[in-house]
Amino acid sequence: MRPSAPTDRPARRTRLRAVWWQALLAGALLSTGWNAGAADPAPAPETIRQVLDRSARTRLDGYAQHQVDPAHSALIRADLERIFNQLAHRPDIELLVVDGPFHAETLAGRMLVVSASLAALPEGERLFILAHEVGHAVMGHWGELGDLYTRLIPGEVRPEVTDAVAPQLGREASNLVHGHEYAADAYAWQILRSLGYGMDSVMAALQVVPGMGDTPTHPATRKRYARLRMLGENDLRSAALKNPD
Ligand SMILES: [Zn+2]
Repeated sequence: MRPSAPTDRPARRTRLRAVWWQALLAGALLSTGWNAGAADPAPAPETIRQVLDRSARTRLDGYAQHQVDPAHSALIRADLERIFNQLAHRPDIELLVVDGPFHAETLAGRMLVVSASLAALPEGERLFILAHEVGHAVMGHWGELGDLYTRLIPGEVRPEVTDAVAPQLGREASNLVHGHEYAADAYAWQILRSLGYGMDSVMAALQVVPGMGDTPTHPATRKRYARLRMLGENDLRSAALKNPD
Protein backbone atom coordinates (compact mmCIF):
# COMPACT_ATOMS: atom_id res chain seq x y z
CA MET A 1 0.00 0.00 0.00
CA ARG A 2 1.31 3.39 -0.79
CA PRO A 3 1.78 5.47 2.34
CA SER A 4 -0.26 8.26 0.84
CA ALA A 5 -3.72 6.89 0.45
CA PRO A 6 -6.23 5.87 3.09
CA THR A 7 -5.45 8.04 6.08
CA ASP A 8 -4.45 11.04 4.06
CA ARG A 9 -7.22 13.64 4.27
CA PRO A 10 -5.98 15.56 1.22
CA ALA A 11 -6.59 12.36 -0.71
CA ARG A 12 -10.28 13.14 -0.32
CA ARG A 13 -9.71 16.20 -2.40
CA THR A 14 -8.19 14.19 -5.16
CA ARG A 15 -10.26 14.85 -8.20
CA LEU A 16 -12.68 12.02 -8.82
CA ARG A 17 -11.55 10.69 -12.07
CA ALA A 18 -14.65 10.60 -14.18
CA VAL A 19 -13.35 7.56 -15.88
CA TRP A 20 -16.49 5.57 -15.84
CA TRP A 21 -17.64 6.26 -19.35
CA GLN A 22 -15.04 8.72 -20.40
CA ALA A 23 -13.05 6.43 -22.60
CA LEU A 24 -16.25 5.33 -24.23
CA LEU A 25 -17.51 8.69 -25.33
CA ALA A 26 -17.04 9.72 -28.90
CA GLY A 27 -13.49 10.75 -29.52
CA ALA A 28 -11.03 8.94 -27.33
CA LEU A 29 -12.14 5.40 -27.94
CA LEU A 30 -13.32 5.92 -31.47
CA SER A 31 -10.03 7.40 -32.50
CA THR A 32 -7.94 4.69 -30.89
CA GLY A 33 -10.10 1.57 -30.81
CA TRP A 34 -9.05 0.25 -34.14
CA ASN A 35 -6.36 2.62 -35.31
CA ALA A 36 -4.01 1.62 -32.53
CA GLY A 37 -1.13 -0.57 -33.58
CA ALA A 38 -1.01 0.38 -37.23
CA ALA A 39 2.05 -1.85 -37.60
CA ASP A 40 0.06 -4.90 -36.51
CA PRO A 41 -1.58 -7.15 -39.04
CA ALA A 42 -4.97 -5.82 -40.06
CA PRO A 43 -7.35 -6.60 -37.18
CA ALA A 44 -10.50 -8.55 -37.81
CA PRO A 45 -13.52 -6.31 -38.31
CA GLU A 46 -15.30 -5.62 -35.04
CA THR A 47 -18.69 -4.34 -34.03
CA ILE A 48 -18.84 -1.37 -31.69
CA ARG A 49 -19.92 -3.66 -28.86
CA GLN A 50 -16.83 -5.80 -29.38
CA VAL A 51 -14.69 -2.66 -29.32
CA LEU A 52 -16.32 -1.53 -26.07
CA ASP A 53 -15.84 -4.93 -24.45
CA ARG A 54 -12.23 -5.11 -25.59
CA SER A 55 -11.55 -1.66 -24.19
CA ALA A 56 -13.03 -2.67 -20.82
CA ARG A 57 -10.98 -5.87 -20.76
CA THR A 58 -7.78 -3.95 -21.46
CA ARG A 59 -8.53 -1.59 -18.58
CA LEU A 60 -9.26 -4.52 -16.27
CA ASP A 61 -6.04 -6.28 -17.25
CA GLY A 62 -4.16 -3.14 -16.26
CA TYR A 63 -5.93 -2.93 -12.91
CA ALA A 64 -5.31 -6.58 -12.13
CA GLN A 65 -1.62 -5.80 -11.55
CA HIS A 66 -2.34 -3.67 -8.51
CA GLN A 67 -1.55 -4.78 -4.97
CA VAL A 68 -3.49 -3.29 -2.08
CA ASP A 69 -3.62 -3.60 1.70
CA PRO A 70 -5.77 -6.67 2.40
CA ALA A 71 -7.42 -4.92 5.37
CA HIS A 72 -8.70 -2.13 3.15
CA SER A 73 -9.82 -4.58 0.56
CA ALA A 74 -11.68 -6.63 3.19
CA LEU A 75 -13.42 -3.55 4.58
CA ILE A 76 -14.69 -2.54 1.15
CA ARG A 77 -15.80 -6.09 0.41
CA ALA A 78 -17.73 -6.18 3.69
CA ASP A 79 -19.43 -2.89 2.77
CA LEU A 80 -20.46 -4.34 -0.54
CA GLU A 81 -21.89 -7.42 1.20
CA ARG A 82 -24.00 -5.14 3.40
CA ILE A 83 -25.42 -3.57 0.26
CA PHE A 84 -26.07 -6.96 -1.35
CA ASN A 85 -27.85 -8.07 1.82
CA GLN A 86 -30.35 -5.25 1.33
CA LEU A 87 -31.33 -6.55 -2.10
CA ALA A 88 -33.96 -9.12 -2.88
CA HIS A 89 -31.56 -10.76 -5.36
CA ARG A 90 -27.81 -10.93 -5.18
CA PRO A 91 -26.50 -9.16 -8.28
CA ASP A 92 -23.85 -10.59 -10.59
CA ILE A 93 -21.09 -8.15 -9.64
CA GLU A 94 -17.40 -8.71 -9.00
CA LEU A 95 -15.28 -6.37 -6.92
CA LEU A 96 -11.72 -5.37 -7.70
CA VAL A 97 -9.93 -3.12 -5.21
CA VAL A 98 -7.01 -1.25 -6.74
CA ASP A 99 -4.25 1.09 -5.68
CA GLY A 100 -4.02 4.76 -6.49
CA PRO A 101 -6.04 7.95 -5.99
CA PHE A 102 -9.72 7.92 -5.16
CA HIS A 103 -11.61 6.22 -7.92
CA ALA A 104 -14.77 4.15 -8.42
CA GLU A 105 -16.18 2.82 -11.67
CA THR A 106 -18.11 -0.08 -13.13
CA LEU A 107 -16.52 -1.78 -16.12
CA ALA A 108 -18.31 -3.96 -18.63
CA GLY A 109 -21.50 -3.74 -16.59
CA ARG A 110 -20.43 -6.03 -13.74
CA MET A 111 -16.83 -5.33 -12.65
CA LEU A 112 -16.84 -2.85 -9.82
CA VAL A 113 -13.39 -1.25 -9.59
CA VAL A 114 -12.65 0.95 -6.58
CA SER A 115 -9.45 2.24 -5.07
CA ALA A 116 -8.40 1.17 -1.60
CA SER A 117 -8.43 4.84 -0.57
CA LEU A 118 -12.22 4.49 -0.31
CA ALA A 119 -11.51 2.70 2.99
CA ALA A 120 -10.45 6.03 4.54
CA LEU A 121 -13.94 7.51 4.17
CA PRO A 122 -16.66 7.28 6.82
CA GLU A 123 -18.98 4.32 6.52
CA GLY A 124 -22.01 6.14 5.10
CA GLU A 125 -19.94 7.74 2.37
CA ARG A 126 -18.32 4.45 1.42
CA LEU A 127 -21.70 2.79 1.23
CA PHE A 128 -23.19 5.53 -0.94
CA ILE A 129 -20.31 5.40 -3.41
CA LEU A 130 -20.44 1.61 -3.64
CA ALA A 131 -24.24 1.51 -3.84
CA HIS A 132 -24.11 4.07 -6.66
CA GLU A 133 -21.87 1.73 -8.64
CA VAL A 134 -24.06 -1.26 -7.79
CA GLY A 135 -26.95 0.81 -9.17
CA HIS A 136 -25.19 1.25 -12.51
CA ALA A 137 -24.68 -2.52 -12.73
CA VAL A 138 -28.14 -3.56 -11.55
CA MET A 139 -29.94 -1.11 -13.84
CA GLY A 140 -28.04 -2.28 -16.90
CA HIS A 141 -26.45 1.02 -17.81
CA TRP A 142 -23.58 -0.59 -19.68
CA GLY A 143 -26.03 -2.40 -21.93
CA GLU A 144 -28.00 0.79 -22.59
CA LEU A 145 -24.89 2.63 -23.65
CA GLY A 146 -23.95 -0.30 -25.88
CA ASP A 147 -27.42 -0.13 -27.45
CA LEU A 148 -26.96 3.55 -28.17
CA TYR A 149 -23.58 2.96 -29.80
CA THR A 150 -24.92 0.04 -31.79
CA ARG A 151 -27.86 2.11 -33.06
CA LEU A 152 -25.51 4.76 -34.42
CA ILE A 153 -22.76 2.35 -35.51
CA PRO A 154 -24.75 -0.72 -36.52
CA GLY A 155 -22.16 -2.67 -38.51
CA GLU A 156 -18.42 -2.92 -38.52
CA VAL A 157 -16.53 -0.13 -36.84
CA ARG A 158 -14.85 1.93 -39.54
CA PRO A 159 -13.42 5.44 -39.20
CA GLU A 160 -15.58 6.88 -41.97
CA VAL A 161 -18.69 5.64 -40.17
CA THR A 162 -17.70 6.72 -36.69
CA ASP A 163 -16.37 10.12 -37.77
CA ALA A 164 -19.73 10.90 -39.35
CA VAL A 165 -21.73 10.10 -36.22
CA ALA A 166 -19.23 11.26 -33.59
CA PRO A 167 -20.93 14.59 -32.75
CA GLN A 168 -24.37 12.98 -32.43
CA LEU A 169 -22.89 10.09 -30.49
CA GLY A 170 -21.17 12.47 -28.10
CA ARG A 171 -24.39 14.38 -27.44
CA GLU A 172 -26.62 11.37 -27.05
CA ALA A 173 -24.13 9.41 -24.96
CA SER A 174 -23.64 12.36 -22.66
CA ASN A 175 -27.39 12.81 -22.17
CA LEU A 176 -27.80 9.11 -21.51
CA VAL A 177 -24.99 8.83 -18.98
CA HIS A 178 -26.11 11.97 -17.14
CA GLY A 179 -29.46 10.22 -16.70
CA HIS A 180 -27.60 7.15 -15.51
CA GLU A 181 -25.85 9.21 -12.86
CA TYR A 182 -29.12 10.55 -11.45
CA ALA A 183 -30.62 7.06 -11.49
CA ALA A 184 -27.60 5.53 -9.73
CA ASP A 185 -27.72 8.31 -7.11
CA ALA A 186 -31.41 7.64 -6.44
CA TYR A 187 -30.69 3.92 -6.19
CA ALA A 188 -27.83 4.52 -3.76
CA TRP A 189 -29.94 6.87 -1.64
CA GLN A 190 -32.58 4.18 -1.34
CA ILE A 191 -29.97 1.69 -0.12
CA LEU A 192 -28.52 4.23 2.30
CA ARG A 193 -31.91 4.89 3.80
CA SER A 194 -32.58 1.18 4.19
CA LEU A 195 -29.28 0.96 6.11
CA GLY A 196 -30.25 3.84 8.37
CA TYR A 197 -28.14 6.65 6.92
CA GLY A 198 -29.36 10.14 6.14
CA MET A 199 -28.87 12.77 3.49
CA ASP A 200 -25.79 14.04 5.36
CA SER A 201 -23.87 10.93 4.25
CA VAL A 202 -25.03 11.48 0.68
CA MET A 203 -23.93 15.08 0.69
CA ALA A 204 -20.56 14.16 2.15
CA ALA A 205 -20.09 11.42 -0.44
CA LEU A 206 -20.88 13.80 -3.28
CA GLN A 207 -18.42 16.28 -1.80
CA VAL A 208 -15.54 13.80 -1.75
CA VAL A 209 -14.67 15.63 -4.92
CA PRO A 210 -15.61 19.20 -4.06
CA GLY A 211 -17.01 21.69 -6.51
CA MET A 212 -17.27 19.39 -9.48
CA GLY A 213 -19.04 21.01 -12.44
CA ASP A 214 -20.72 19.42 -15.43
CA THR A 215 -18.56 17.02 -17.42
CA PRO A 216 -19.45 14.88 -20.44
CA THR A 217 -19.92 11.93 -18.10
CA HIS A 218 -21.31 13.48 -14.91
CA PRO A 219 -23.76 16.24 -14.01
CA ALA A 220 -22.45 18.89 -11.62
CA THR A 221 -22.48 17.86 -7.97
CA ARG A 222 -24.98 20.58 -7.07
CA LYS A 223 -27.44 19.21 -9.68
CA ARG A 224 -27.06 15.68 -8.36
CA TYR A 225 -27.68 16.84 -4.83
CA ALA A 226 -30.69 18.94 -5.88
CA ARG A 227 -32.23 15.88 -7.58
CA LEU A 228 -31.77 13.80 -4.47
CA ARG A 229 -33.27 16.51 -2.28
CA MET A 230 -36.31 16.46 -4.56
CA LEU A 231 -36.68 12.73 -4.01
CA GLY A 232 -36.66 13.49 -0.32
CA GLU A 233 -37.15 11.16 2.56
CA ASN A 234 -40.44 9.54 1.63
CA ASP A 235 -40.81 9.06 -2.08
CA LEU A 236 -38.75 6.00 -2.83
CA ARG A 237 -40.21 2.55 -3.16
CA SER A 238 -38.67 -0.40 -4.90
CA ALA A 239 -39.42 -4.08 -5.21
CA ALA A 240 -35.68 -4.57 -5.71
CA LEU A 241 -35.12 -4.03 -2.01
CA LYS A 242 -35.81 -6.77 0.51
CA ASN A 243 -37.65 -4.46 2.82
CA PRO A 244 -38.70 -1.36 0.95
CA ASP A 245 -39.98 1.22 3.38
ZN1 LIG B 1 -21.90 6.95 -11.67
